Amino acid sequence: MRYLLGFLTCSLFVLSTLKAQNPKNSSSTDIYHSIEKLNFLGTALYIAAHPDDENTRLIAYLANDVKARTGYLSLTRGDGGQNLIGPELRELLGVLRTQELLAARRVDGGEQFFSRANDFGYSKLPSETLKIWDKEDILADVVRTIRKFKPDVIINRFDHRTPGTTHGHHTSSAMLSFEAFDLANDTKAFPEQLSSTSTWQPRRLFFNTSWWFYGSQEKFKAADKTNLLHMDVGTYYPILGKSNNEIASLASSQHLCQGFGRLTSRGSEDEYIELLKGDLPKDKSDPFDGIDTTWNRIDGGKAIGDILYDVQENFNFKNPTVHLPKLLEAYQLLQNVTDEHWKNLKTTQLTTIISAISGLHLEAFTKTSFTNPGQNVDVQIQALNRSDIKVELKSVFLNEQNTNIENSVLKNNQLLEKKIDLDIPVSTNFTSPYWLMEKGTLGTYTVKNSDLIGKPETPRAFNATFNLAINGVSIPFTKPVVYKYAKPDKGEIYQPFEVIPEATANFTDKVLIFANASQKKIPVTVKAHKDSISGTIELKYGKGWQIDNKSQQFSIAKKGDEQTVYFTLTPPATENESSISPIIKLNGKEITKELVNIAYDHVPTQTVLLPSETKVVRLNIQKAGENIGYIMGAGDELPTSLEQIGYNVQLIDPSTITEESLKKYDAVVLGIRAYNVVDELKFKQRFILDYAKNGGTVVVQYNTASRWGAQFENIAPYDLEISRDRVTNENSDVKIIAKDNSLVHFPNEIDESDFNGWVQERGLYFPNKWSEKFTPVLEMHDEGEESTKGSLLIAPYGKGNYIYTGLSFFRELPVGVPGAYKLFSNMLSVGKDKVETKAKIKG
Ligand SMILES: [Zn+2]
Repeated sequence: MRYLLGFLTCSLFVLSTLKAQNPKNSSSTDIYHSIEKLNFLGTALYIAAHPDDENTRLIAYLANDVKARTGYLSLTRGDGGQNLIGPELRELLGVLRTQELLAARRVDGGEQFFSRANDFGYSKLPSETLKIWDKEDILADVVRTIRKFKPDVIINRFDHRTPGTTHGHHTSSAMLSFEAFDLANDTKAFPEQLSSTSTWQPRRLFFNTSWWFYGSQEKFKAADKTNLLHMDVGTYYPILGKSNNEIASLASSQHLCQGFGRLTSRGSEDEYIELLKGDLPKDKSDPFDGIDTTWNRIDGGKAIGDILYDVQENFNFKNPTVHLPKLLEAYQLLQNVTDEHWKNLKTTQLTTIISAISGLHLEAFTKTSFTNPGQNVDVQIQALNRSDIKVELKSVFLNEQNTNIENSVLKNNQLLEKKIDLDIPVSTNFTSPYWLMEKGTLGTYTVKNSDLIGKPETPRAFNATFNLAINGVSIPFTKPVVYKYAKPDKGEIYQPFEVIPEATANFTDKVLIFANASQKKIPVTVKAHKDSISGTIELKYGKGWQIDNKSQQFSIAKKGDEQTVYFTLTPPATENESSISPIIKLNGKEITKELVNIAYDHVPTQTVLLPSETKVVRLNIQKAGENIGYIMGAGDELPTSLEQIGYNVQLIDPSTITEESLKKYDAVVLGIRAYNVVDELKFKQRFILDYAKNGGTVVVQYNTASRWGAQFENIAPYDLEISRDRVTNENSDVKIIAKDNSLVHFPNEIDESDFNGWVQERGLYFPNKWSEKFTPVLEMHDEGEESTKGSLLIAPYGKGNYIYTGLSFFRELPVGVPGAYKLFSNMLSVGKDKVETKAKIKG
């Protein structure tokens, strides 16, 4: 039901955000709201660790009720999460979640920032997180964001004083913020930043607390609230036609890939923030109390304020253009302000308002979604004035290129159009997320251009600058060059205009397992991003591996078409891990990237170039049995991984399970969280257990304890209690405690070295209590914690076997971890050693 609800909320919402990337036209009430925000000179920054950590209620309240400039600094891009709507994982998921955050901010009125921290996976303690992130780098990024954004008020989502009570990333975000609050104003801290920004002292630091952090509502009621500010954030905004809660829910429902589509709460809503640093406001409902948030705050601001407050006070909703002369006067005064920070910020806000009030439509678009460096492309320029105001178009520049548009008057509602041939310089960088350009570490992205650090996305490569004179006042307006097209079922659509290589190549699989010495045919697909290209493709490969031919020709006539070539790869005789990459040679250039498009309706389409690479692993793996039945749970890639080592894997539709249907399998495997998400299993559980009883092998992977309790008396044939025990350090020591059990001997000998090279974690939701019928096979623990023996349990049942494991095979197999393959093969082979011995005796 949760899923159904989620789906309904999502699909309703998609309708309203389908064109989120299309230019926004402002109504009179929108313009009025923007003027209110223009007249508030105060800034708030919210800080947490992940996309979806942010309290959109508070962000929406600060941005729309208080009218502060409000930002959210998410230290990571959420690369380590799961994806409920598509195949993107790891860095590609980070790209998607970045866009979902931007979509959320478009709804709640905030701005978005990131650090270079990579969401590498779960950590229990901030000490572990900060070691992997490289604390100094991420602290520098928090300081940089504070110095650039210059917040008066910082609000932490998490408590810096309680390590171990939540994800290590969470506590770390609060600890770094606590430290950065003072460092931002210290010239000795990160002095290299001071050439592009200046020191800044925020006035107050808060922690966004709630009753939950006190243990219960009663305890919170009784708690001392001297240092707490309280805000009722349930405001209804008549000019927006929405309540703050409604905006907040719409914003957080943008996190579709995390399944955050949710119902809207309405009515009064309490938020509490606890003062950590700075002075306690007298008005304990206003975090800005005592801070001058008027135009008087800046030198030369008073005269500007006198004009703009008057416009706000006497705003003409019927004919807002009457305010234009006054706004232009304010614009000119603003250009004399010496404080660059406020001048730039308020100039941007004010020009947007002037443009909206004049009904200006300024656009530069292409009819192609991408091009290559060295090409030229048609750009359509459109300029339209929809008011009686005198607007002259002086010139239009596409980057540095003068479009030779002559000085012309934009008459009311007369569209000016011109087609321009835009040269794309050979030196133009390909479009791609800037943080993925260089190889990073496990915890930190490498960003060479420090100006980009903190930005949510790569700035667009091509912009059109329209130099206008409005009532004689010169104002430049800059718009990115976009790709515009129509879809019969969706209408007008705007997408980013991209620059990509002339061709890219990719493999079908990201990991190839060679379970024996046999060679494999490797398909490589070349895709053309330009008409009529031909060249050669080579395969780069590691020592000990062999291919049949070094270089192959390709020739593709049309842009968008593909050609697949095959290389035959022979593995080394002994175990080996290496990688292969295609190199395209085209007109003297080498291209080693693959192209990934991320396309969803709720975010702009993303173009990502990644190194094209496949991991190749030569294993010396033995297996017994052939046919595996797989019951998919929440979704994992194990069936493909098992096929790679030669198993015949059939996906089982749970509704088709009968007493007879499982008999044909050598083992039946349940995918991750199967008992949590597949309701049908409650009717089929007895057939699964009977299958084991009659001689089969059942392998159950991790489930969370929360949901299956009510539906299943027991998911195992004997007592088994699932806990929240997990071992998050993928390098933690593993001890084999069931040394005589066939699980560690047949058909592959397992020793401690098979636990080398695991990724992200050892496992999760290990049982902590079990019947004595179970044999615990392994023992492991995270640093400073007690050992757990629940990661891999086996019990004989009738003539067969039942295995329960919380080990993270769903992470290890898809990335080709040899030891994990061997152990999994042993689980599938349980009991087959006896069968074979019998067969031998018979023979
Ligand atoms: Zn989080």
